[in-house]
Amino acid sequence: MDKHKYDFLIEEAKKLIQSRYCKEGHHTVVAAALLANNGKVYSALNVGTYQPSISTCAEIITIGMALKENRDLKIEAIACVRDDPAYIISPCGKCREYIADYSDDALVCVPVGAADYEFVPVSELLPNKYVKKV
Ligand SMILES: [Zn+2]
Repeated sequence: MDKHKYDFLIEEAKKLIQSRYCKEGHHTVVAAALLANNGKVYSALNVGTYQPSISTCAEIITIGMALKENRDLKIEAIACVRDDPAYIISPCGKCREYIADYSDDALVCVPVGAADYEFVPVSELLPNKYVKKV
C-alpha cells in the first residue's frame, strides 16, 4: 500500500483542529477525519465538557456524522490529531471498538516513534474484539 494514500485525512483533521482549537472552556483539542465507503470524507471535533471523563471523542462524533448520510457506513481509513500544532494520536480503546464495529478492516493512522506514522488495520489494534453472539 502507498504509505501516503490517506495523508489527506491527516491534513483534513489538522485543518479542522487548527481552526477550532480551544484549550479553555470545553477543551476542543482533538479532530478526526475518515474516508467512508460512499467516497466522502467526514471530519469532526471532540465534544468536550468541563468534566473530561464524560467528554466524547472526535472519532465517535465523526462516525455519527457519516452515519447521518450513509446507513451502510464502512470506514476505509481514519486519522486523528490532537492540539495545535497538531500531532497524530492513536484512537482510544473505546474508539477502536467503534471503528471495528463499522469496519473490521478499516485502516487506522497511528504514530510510529516521535515523528512518523502508519495506517494499520483496526484488527491489529483490537485483537479478539468483543462480538455479540447471535
Ligand atoms: Zn476515543
